[in-house]
Amino acid sequence: MSAVAECPICTMPEPLLAVDGFECATCGHEWMTDPDPADAAGEVRDVNGNLLADGDDVVIIKDLKLDGKAGGIKVGTKVKSIRLIPGDHPIDGKVNGRGVLIMADKVKKA
Ligand SMILES: [Zn+2]
Repeated sequence: MSAVAECPICTMPEPLLAVDGFECATCGHEWMTDPDPADAAGEVRDVNGNLLADGDDVVIIKDLKLDGKAGGIKVGTKVKSIRLIPGDHPIDGKVNGRGVLIMADKVKKA
């Protein structure tokens, strides 16, 4: 999300902000800020479709098993100050002091 925007044509950084995207001050090329939000890195939504961000608190909505470890994460467990990472389990958080990776459809924004 916070990657530096650059012109896809001439690769000049720091384009001008246009109405619904960017405009390159160097070559005049215009492009949209987010052509496919669903695939953009950092776009992680909870089970209700709310956008999650680094530092959010989420609540577990389904009992989760932790691979190869005893115990698990119970429904209603709050995971504070999550961090978003690329991959199938995009939510990186800590539960009872243990680092866990959680799928986005197993949580709701707290
Ligand atoms: Zn350009």
